Amino acid sequence: MRNGLSTSKPMLSHKSTLFTESVIRGMTQLCNRYDAINLSQGTPGFEPPDEVKEAAIDAIREGYNQYSITWGTPKFREAIAQKVTASNGIPTDPDQNVTVTCGSTEGMMSSLLAIINPGDEIIIFEPFYENYGPDTIISGAKPIYVPLRETHCPERGDIFTYDPDELRDAFSKNTKAIVLNTPSNPIGKVFIHDELKEIASLCCEYDSLAVTDEIYEHMIYDERPHISIGSLPEMRDRTITVSGLSKTYSMTGWRLGYVIAPEYLANGIRKMHDFLTVGAPHPLQQAGVVALQLGEEYYRELIRKYDDNRKLFSALLRKAGFQCYIPEGAYYIMTDISNFGFSDDTEFAHWLVKEIGVGGVPGSSFYSRPELGKTKLRFMFSKDKATLREAADRLMRIREKI
Ligand code: PLP
Repeated sequence: MRNGLSTSKPMLSHKSTLFTESVIRGMTQLCNRYDAINLSQGTPGFEPPDEVKEAAIDAIREGYNQYSITWGTPKFREAIAQKVTASNGIPTDPDQNVTVTCGSTEGMMSSLLAIINPGDEIIIFEPFYENYGPDTIISGAKPIYVPLRETHCPERGDIFTYDPDELRDAFSKNTKAIVLNTPSNPIGKVFIHDELKEIASLCCEYDSLAVTDEIYEHMIYDERPHISIGSLPEMRDRTITVSGLSKTYSMTGWRLGYVIAPEYLANGIRKMHDFLTVGAPHPLQQAGVVALQLGEEYYRELIRKYDDNRKLFSALLRKAGFQCYIPEGAYYIMTDISNFGFSDDTEFAHWLVKEIGVGGVPGSSFYSRPELGKTKLRFMFSKDKATLREAADRLMRIREKI
């Protein structure tokens, strides 16, 4: 008996029972309840550029208020194609290769729905962005996880890498795709050319695709390049590149994402996208054109701002007793919480919100087996410096309270 209805059959689908609500968004609710500084969910603490906001208001006034073409307005697709061709090095045709989606979240889901058949496996590096778990369940793919471990590399410092043998062992005749996320959430790993070449060679050998989530492509530090695996010639017909405007322009609520794919895949993705959403918000696509046409200075300033925050907040976290994994990109810091003596990351994360007034995300939510993340907690640093300093002041009190 549920809500007064006596049922003779399970009313919820089996799939819907296989995953929980988002741990990240759950932490946001907890932060709201306890009025804590929310460094859990990856919502930028900044506003979109004024001219982009103005363009959205103008577009609504000018009457762009009905459905657009399902896979995106011609002008927005044209702007995306120009950007992806020039900056990602993937030759992109706006009519054949671009699908505008409701955020990269929907872009990833529509892509997997378009390519997965029963029995297909997808390879996922872990720790991974929480959504990839439900994405595999909804699309019906079998996930095969490959660990990224912290390693000391003489040229690159302490970085997360995979073991090439483990990666090779993960591939099989059933591998439909490997999911990449560069720069990655939660650890800020930026895949380098040699790694992408190695992955590409396995994709070719096993006749597999790469589905790559590049939503943090404009937040990379220490002058590292962003390399899209889709720009490698051997991967041109084997790559689905997912990205969007949410993070680069601080507009997660606008729900503007896109998928770049060879035509034979784009057609399937567009159908999934159409019947799931009909289309992304029309007036905001108009404003998205203005965002994509911002000059180089915008991106330089973005990196400078985030890099300052990365340095500031990692130093403050260390003072407060956290061990930090310094990210190469994106705006998260994964930390080790072993010093604080809690038996479990979720218990610590909840205690931190209630007793200290700061929210982070339990590390276990980024692993297929929760025990792998038991000693970890992720913070985001897309906030103004005063907020980060206030959060750090509060975190300094942990040792007094335990
Ligand atoms: N991909 C990654 C790796 C993310 O971290 C996030 C948000 O935190 C998203 C996708 C969601 O992006 P969008 O707002 O475009 O759906």
